[in-house]
Amino acid sequence: MYPKKPTAKKPSTTSSSAVTAKWSKGKNDVSGYQIKCSKNKSMKGAKTVTAGKSVTSKKISGLKANTKYYVQVRAYKTVDGKKYYSDWSAKKSAKTKAKAKKSSGGTVYITNTGEKYHRGTCRYLRYSKYSISKSEAQREGYTACKVCRP
Ligand SMILES: [Zn+2]
Repeated sequence: MYPKKPTAKKPSTTSSSAVTAKWSKGKNDVSGYQIKCSKNKSMKGAKTVTAGKSVTSKKISGLKANTKYYVQVRAYKTVDGKKYYSDWSAKKSAKTKAKAKKSSGGTVYITNTGEKYHRGTCRYLRYSKYSISKSEAQREGYTACKVCRP
């Protein structure tokens, strides 16, 4: 009646807010899988999602960036409307990606001596020209050139 527990594999992470749980099916005759995902190794406060019987991976989203998550999988079989669960698999962990730093406003240009930042085509860039992100230029105290209005 009870299905065998699936073997969890290392989850994959391709974003800052999701982990993809993976497992191997084996010779299991199951109705589906239940996946638990938690920041705590004790699985406290875990999110639980279900997956169909023909899949061996499931994306769990809505997670925090740059955080290690533990994932466990169990199989279930529905017989006469009652669900029979396998034991939980071993825990596997993966870390979500860090959030990409936003450098807003694109690239502007500064000079050796000036206190302004410019568009790449500005005439004030004739003698020196260094690229910098607009947000970084503003952070460093540069202000926008009144001629080229970057
Ligand atoms: Zn300029």
